[in-house]
Amino acid sequence: MRRTSIAPALLALLLTLLTACAPQRNLPQVQGGLVEAEAKKQQELAVREYMAKLDRMDRVAWAIRSKNVDLCGEHTAYRLGLNLAEAEDYPKDQREIIQNALGIQARPTVYIITRGGPAEAAGVQRGDVLLSVAGQEVKNKKHALEHLDKALASGSSIPMAVERAGLRHELSVPPAKVCAYDVFLKTDNMINAFADGSKITVMTGMMKFVQTDDELAAILGHEMAHNTEGHIKAKTGNALLGMLLFDLPIAILTGVNPNTGGQIGQQLYSQEFEHEADYVGLYFTARAGYDIENVADLWRRMAVENPGAITMGSTHPSTSARYVALEAARDEIKGKAKEGKELKPEMKGK
Ligand SMILES: [Zn+2]
Repeated sequence: MRRTSIAPALLALLLTLLTACAPQRNLPQVQGGLVEAEAKKQQELAVREYMAKLDRMDRVAWAIRSKNVDLCGEHTAYRLGLNLAEAEDYPKDQREIIQNALGIQARPTVYIITRGGPAEAAGVQRGDVLLSVAGQEVKNKKHALEHLDKALASGSSIPMAVERAGLRHELSVPPAKVCAYDVFLKTDNMINAFADGSKITVMTGMMKFVQTDDELAAILGHEMAHNTEGHIKAKTGNALLGMLLFDLPIAILTGVNPNTGGQIGQQLYSQEFEHEADYVGLYFTARAGYDIENVADLWRRMAVENPGAITMGSTHPSTSARYVALEAARDEIKGKAKEGKELKPEMKGK
């Protein structure tokens, strides 16, 4: 019984001691509800900032994808240069913010309209609500996308109706053929972008890092080159080969999978693939009309961010090697442009 009476006394002493450590200044009172209102404002700002990055990325990506369509082989697709969203895409507590910031409603709403794309040229605007596609009234986004996909496959102009400020507008949008690699923006502070063979993902950290659209175009060109040159497939194939030749025999002999062969295979030619993506990507960048004169500077700034990568390459070449190689590629491309030659990356042995 005695022990239990000591505990509250100790607790009281502890609380007194801790209170002594609390801040002692008398702050002005904050009105109720102000924090919640400010939180909404800040969330709206964050959404608008994300959207600004998305618009910029989308515009540059469209140029890269549409101006290099003849170098993308069979990997082309028809696109309209618009994207739909509806309130249901977002958690309930964010819908009001999304509607205020982007005008996204309960019905399928145009929220990306690619600058330079066919939908913009045909008069579609951000915030338009899609009413019908190719003569079919649409109920929701899923339904709208199904009709759009079907209509896109033919490549011919797509009649659609949109609602804007309460009025119905009839439009016709001719799709454009572009490289089939759609581009996505991921909220992540890492200065990075990656390709997976069928699409491209750019991190918001990279969007902050690139200082000009020329640099952004070089990043997108590099990632698209990983896809067009089949690097992802080749890496997977090399990893499989490594597993078959090294891991599997050892696993059979010892019962333990070392997974070393897979890793070695995965990293085989890794630096060469990066150099190749830099080289081909710079052609994509120049062909899309961007100025490639100073884009190698990216690698000087990257070096400042990550000094360890200046001389040491790992799966990627060192930043110094990439800078020098890009300068050489730039001179090759500029030389061809000067002579009026076609801007096409060179193949080995030619
Ligand atoms: Zn790369």
